Amino acid sequence: MTVLQNARVLNLEAPDDDRLYSVVVEGSQIREVTSTRVQVDGARHMDVAGKTVMPGMIDCHVHVIASIAHLGTNGKMPNTFAVLRAVPILRGMLNRGFLTVRDAGGADYALSTAIEQEVIAGPRLFIAGKALSQTGGHGDFRERFDSTDPDPCGCSRNLGAIGRIVDGADEVRKAVREEMRSGAHHIKIMASGGVASPNDPIGNLQYSADEIRAIVEEARSHQTYVMAHAYTGAAIKRAVELGVRTIEHGNLVDEDAAATMAKMGAYMVPTLVTYDAMSRVGAKTGVSTQALEKNEAVRVQGLAALELLRRHGVKMALGTDLLGDMHEFQSDELRIRADILGNLEVLRQATAIGAEVVGMAGKLGVVQEGAIADLLVVDGDPLKDLSCLGGQGEGIRAIMKAGKWVREALAQ
Ligand code: ZN
Ligand code: ZN
Repeated sequence: MTVLQNARVLNLEAPDDDRLYSVVVEGSQIREVTSTRVQVDGARHMDVAGKTVMPGMIDCHVHVIASIAHLGTNGKMPNTFAVLRAVPILRGMLNRGFLTVRDAGGADYALSTAIEQEVIAGPRLFIAGKALSQTGGHGDFRERFDSTDPDPCGCSRNLGAIGRIVDGADEVRKAVREEMRSGAHHIKIMASGGVASPNDPIGNLQYSADEIRAIVEEARSHQTYVMAHAYTGAAIKRAVELGVRTIEHGNLVDEDAAATMAKMGAYMVPTLVTYDAMSRVGAKTGVSTQALEKNEAVRVQGLAALELLRRHGVKMALGTDLLGDMHEFQSDELRIRADILGNLEVLRQATAIGAEVVGMAGKLGVVQEGAIADLLVVDGDPLKDLSCLGGQGEGIRAIMKAGKWVREALAQ
């Protein structure tokens, strides 16, 4: 058992509460959070005066196997290499205080289980298996003159690939069943064109209504939900009306689509840092001028989208969507959003709302009795200054995941 004493506890329901608490952790759970001083025989007591105890953060849009910035190249890597390259990416996320992440395509059950069984260090990993894309959609990385079969073995099991190509209501239904059988927690689809892909313009709608309906129905039958890559108002509105639960990116959302999301209770998962990182380092990594121009337009519109979504009362979770070397910018998503929404709202998005998205409300994203003991001990007060959560986690003094210390600099 561990008791953290003299802790200022980040409580987003009562942000002004500056009383000091004792946080009692037993096994993997928080047993008690009390303002009376607790002394437990045989327990380890740690004084965290001057620091803040907050929930581990949740990133709702990552690709942990995307170790190369060019997405299509990842899919051509041998599986062993793809896994080994994912290991430091996972460790990096953990060190930045992201103790739970939701994969948006690529990671498999083996990776998720390896973390759970502590074979490798990493955040709790909720997976989609392979993202479903239509032929010529955002998950189809073939060039115009390339007419090879994208999945010659028919197995779609190349680990580095973030997606698989599947068309037709019957086939997409079968693909959902296959992903579920293989251990997916949720289903990811490509429901519009993308930014970095020259062959699928951002304005495209992807998948027919019948196909999306079949995917949603099948996911619901498996007691789970669908997340959809979508940029434009038209793509977002259509996906949400067909039952998609979370919209990814959403930079070009309009009034109509935002109102529909609010009405249907759908979540938006913006991924602003990826456009920010691309504008900073894209040219160096060989991204074309044309793609960089497209990126810049989407980046600016994504910032404006935050205000629009807030005005409509759409719940937003934190997402990043970084690729390759750009993973190091993950925590910048907090700062980018905070400039527009303020620290309190951003911390809520990175904790409690993320927990709702992954189906763990009350268990993750909160420091309270009965929750899983995913805790960060940070210097200062993140409500006043988010820099303690920036960089590579240097301002995080201690990290506890499910009751076990990942980092315990305080312990000496
Ligand atoms: Zn996407
Ligand atoms: Zn993505």
